[in-house]
Amino acid sequence: MNRKIVAVDIDEVLIPHNAPLADLHNRLFGTSHTVDDYHDDWPLLWSVNREEAERRAEIWWNSEEWKQRHERPIDGSLAVLQDLQKKYDLVIVTGRSKRTAEFTEKWLEEYFPSIFSNVHFVGIWEEGLGKNKSEVCLNTGVSYLIEDSLEQAFACAEKGIEVLLFGDYNWNKHDSLGQKVVRVKDWQEVGRYFEKDYSN
Ligand SMILES: [Mg+2]
Repeated sequence: MNRKIVAVDIDEVLIPHNAPLADLHNRLFGTSHTVDDYHDDWPLLWSVNREEAERRAEIWWNSEEWKQRHERPIDGSLAVLQDLQKKYDLVIVTGRSKRTAEFTEKWLEEYFPSIFSNVHFVGIWEEGLGKNKSEVCLNTGVSYLIEDSLEQAFACAEKGIEVLLFGDYNWNKHDSLGQKVVRVKDWQEVGRYFEKDYSN
């Protein structure tokens, strides 16, 4: 029997992203953002044009802070994924650029050894606004996506993918998530969701 595929996002699902980015940006550019100010539209958040936002994003991706945040995966992620691996095929679908592939794949093998059978880099930033994960999820037969971004969640849910909207973050608050999107506030809730799914 073919096993169902669960796709997992990296940033803000396996490791923190916006808190260290806010710290770095505040330090370098004199802003005073908190993690709760963050959302996906960085030019708007930073009040700069797209070119300048890309320059700042480049600084972030090349910073020590970017690397350091990989050292502490989000609580419970590994244990729950090890459990899920017994029943599902697990893959990564990240918005990160392919340019991070070498670092990201090495890090995944160190912190999540032999958990993921494939890693897909969607390159949301390179492809321009509006690029989403639904195409790669559909092309690779993904049934479930664990994701913190509302925009990605809705884009994938629209294509029939079950989305577990990860975290109770300021940037993913929404009054009506619809039928295909379920909020899970942490990895323990992810585990419980799949226990229920598998027993059906
Ligand atoms: Mg994310």
